[in-house]
Amino acid sequence: MPKTKPALNYNRANGYEGLAPAELKKLDDVCARYRDFLGKAKTERKAHDEAVELLEAAGFQDLDGLIHEGAKLKAGDKVFRSCAGKTLLAAVLGKQPLEKGLHIVGGHTDSPRLDVKQNPLYESGEMALLDTHYYGGIRKYQWVAMPLALHGVFVKPDGKKVVICIGEEPGDPVFCITDLLPHLSADQNKKSLGESHEGENLDVLVGSVPSKDKKAKEKIKQRVLELLHERYGVTEADFLSAELEFVPAGPPREAGIDRSLIIGYGQDDRVCAYTALQALLDVPGTPEFTSCVLLCDKEEIGSYGATGMYSNFFENTVSEMLALCGGTYSELVLKRALESSWMLSADVNALFDPLFPGVSEKKNAALLNQGTCLTKYTGSRGKGGASDASAEFVAQIRRIFDRAGVVWQAAELGKVDQGGGGTIAYLMARYGMHVVDVGVALLSMHAPWEVSGKFDVYMTYKGFAAFLKDGRRNK
Ligand code: MN
Ligand code: MN
Repeated sequence: MPKTKPALNYNRANGYEGLAPAELKKLDDVCARYRDFLGKAKTERKAHDEAVELLEAAGFQDLDGLIHEGAKLKAGDKVFRSCAGKTLLAAVLGKQPLEKGLHIVGGHTDSPRLDVKQNPLYESGEMALLDTHYYGGIRKYQWVAMPLALHGVFVKPDGKKVVICIGEEPGDPVFCITDLLPHLSADQNKKSLGESHEGENLDVLVGSVPSKDKKAKEKIKQRVLELLHERYGVTEADFLSAELEFVPAGPPREAGIDRSLIIGYGQDDRVCAYTALQALLDVPGTPEFTSCVLLCDKEEIGSYGATGMYSNFFENTVSEMLALCGGTYSELVLKRALESSWMLSADVNALFDPLFPGVSEKKNAALLNQGTCLTKYTGSRGKGGASDASAEFVAQIRRIFDRAGVVWQAAELGKVDQGGGGTIAYLMARYGMHVVDVGVALLSMHAPWEVSGKFDVYMTYKGFAAFLKDGRRNK
C-alpha cells in the first residue's frame, strides 16, 4: 500500500514557479543559442547549413562520405546526411542494433514566406517590382508595409550557384510591399479580411532609379537588372532557375519587460528544429537506441517533393545506415527498424490568446509558460487527417517527461470545429511506428513575427533530450 494518497486532481501551473536558479540559467543559455540560430536560419537552406555547421563542430560525419569510403558504423558513431541542401537527418548510433528501432525527433525548417516567381521583374508607376507567389498558409494582410529581406540562390545552367542575402545586415537596404492609405481604403474596407489583399498583388518594391541606357524601353527595370548584374553576375533569364524568398527582415528579439518571450520570424518550426538538434548534440555518451533528428523541408506546403517528408529520403538513409552497420542488409530488417521506432513529431501548437479566447477550449488549450506541449491528435472536423497517438505511447512519453522533470501540457489546436492543422506525424506513422506531436506552442503562428515563451522553448529542449536518450525497453 502506498503511504501517501495519489493526487486526485490534475493541476496545471506556471512553470516559473518553483524553477530552480540553476535551471533558469540553463533556460537563458538554451534560449540565447536558439535566438542566434533563428536569426541566421531565415530559410530552409540556411537552417540546413547552420545545423550542418553545429553537427560538424560536434564531430558528426557526413554519411555520404562514409558510404563512399565503405566505412563501418558502430555504436556511438555520429553521422548526418543531407538531402539537396534542404532536408537533414542526423543520428547517434545506439548500443542496440537499428533493427530494434530508433528514437526520432522530427521537425521542419521551412516557414511561410513570399517566393519570387520565375519571371518576376516588371516596371509600373515609375517603380520596379518583383512578382511573388506566397508559400504556405499566410494571412496576406500581415505581410504588407513592413521591411522584407531577400534570400536565396540563382543557379546558372553550368551549375554555378549565386547566393543572395539582402536586408539582414544593419547597413543593408530592405524591400517592402506597399499598402493602401486609410484615406483611400473605402472600397477595400468593405471586403472581408481574407479578401482585402490579393495574393497576386503581393509584389515587392525593389527600385525606382532609371537607367542611363537610352535604348532601354523600361529604364527603371533596366537599372535593377544592371545592379543585379554588377553585383551578382546574373541576368533576367537567371530568375528562371532561381529560388528567392522574401522574409521579414532583421533578427529575432527578446520581448516583454521581463524578457520572457522571443519574437521572431520562422519559429514554426525552427523552434522545434533547433531544440531537437541541440538535444541530439547534448546526448551523453552512447544512447541505448539510435537517437535521430530529422529537419524537413516542404511541411508548410504538404510535405511533397524530394525534400518533403513524403519522399523516401528518411527510409533510404536508414537503409544506408543499416548497410554500414554490417550484417546482412534486407528489406525485412529495414521494416523492423522503422516499425520498432518511436517518434516525437516536433511541431508547434497554438497558445491560448486572451485577445481571441473564443477559438480555444481553455482546459485543452496550450497555456504560456506551462511547458512543452503534447498534442495527441491534430487534424480538423472530427480529427480528420490525424494520426492520433495511442494512449499506450502517450503513457511512455509521460513516464519519460515526468522522470526527467520536464514541465509539459497536453493540448489540442483550437476548439472543436474551429479549424485545425497537421504535421509530419502521419507520414511516419504509416511505417507502423509510434508517433506523437510535441513542441512549443506559439502566439501569432504563421505571422511575420511569431512569439514563443522562453520557458516553453527550454522545456521542449529538455523533453527532446530526455526522449532521445531514453533506453526504455531495458527498464
Ligand atoms: Mn509547423
Ligand atoms: Mn506551420
